[in-house]
Amino acid sequence: MKSAILTESNKPLVVGEVDLPKNLEFGQVLVKVCYSGLCGAQINEIDAVKGPDKFLPHLLGHEGSGIVEKIGDGVKRAKVGDHVVLHWRKSSGIQSPTPKYFWNGKKVNAGWVTTFNEKAVVSENRITVIPKDFDLRTAALFGCAVTSGFGAVNNDAQVKIGQSVLIIGLGGMGLNIAYAASMVSAYPIIGVDVHKSKIDMGKKFGLTHGIVANSNNLKSEIYSILEKNGPEITFETTGNAKVMEQAYELAPKDGKVIFVGVPDNKISIYSLPLAFDKTLSASHGGNSIPDKDIPRYIKLIKNKKMTLENFITHEFTLSEINKALDLFRSGKAGRIILKIN
Ligand SMILES: [Zn+2]
Repeated sequence: MKSAILTESNKPLVVGEVDLPKNLEFGQVLVKVCYSGLCGAQINEIDAVKGPDKFLPHLLGHEGSGIVEKIGDGVKRAKVGDHVVLHWRKSSGIQSPTPKYFWNGKKVNAGWVTTFNEKAVVSENRITVIPKDFDLRTAALFGCAVTSGFGAVNNDAQVKIGQSVLIIGLGGMGLNIAYAASMVSAYPIIGVDVHKSKIDMGKKFGLTHGIVANSNNLKSEIYSILEKNGPEITFETTGNAKVMEQAYELAPKDGKVIFVGVPDNKISIYSLPLAFDKTLSASHGGNSIPDKDIPRYIKLIKNKKMTLENFITHEFTLSEINKALDLFRSGKAGRIILKIN
């Protein structure tokens, strides 16, 4: 089966024919992957931001959708033919051993879920069954972008009606945060991005104000929108260490700052305000519980209380993965999706 393989850090992925493990182990599920999202986490894996990658060569991708082809012993949460979301956050069910694939006779590692491959052996606790009439392309977004963004608003920040929100970085995550913030009637919802096109897009997803980030008086622009008050809640989604420091500095003395992006470096902050009323925390996938959250979002979408149309701005095939990654790095896309099968 065709797969994108990370063979060396800081290099393009290699698209090759990889062999599946011969048998499924306890708690494993074989899924034909239909769609996969692309997210900053994979860029960080390729760039080895956490240090030398001891799992090379390995498969990657952590949000997707697909159809169950086979189940291993012990699996109770899915059956053959079920449509599923593939997600990196744990749900209920078995945590299986991670699978071992083979490529030209060499072992290829993989985590509990991978999605840049035509078929995936996934741990039972990384899948959630969805109705068969639900669009699989949209469903892929539930693997990370939507559940993490909505979770950051609902679980981490617990945004209240009328609270002011600042979102720094309007990629897939930032747009979902904007949308979730608008669903809970936050106001104003200010978005900051280096690309004007992302701000225009953000306005379709709930932003009430947008600021192009290269403005040299970002802070005064934000505070003028808020009539001299600072944002009650700030979401930092870029993971850029300098921007994270700026997000913390920008927040008022009783502001709540939440880091959503995976940091690309260490940060340096003046911590005294934390002894008083300022708070700083980091979101781990919006603390989402996929098998509880995904059915709720599907219910809202089916009843036209929520729509994820237009979130996906670009689509590529698996063979075009490196082109898709380059576009992601440019910061010009919303959510990019790979059509796998
Ligand atoms: Zn992700």
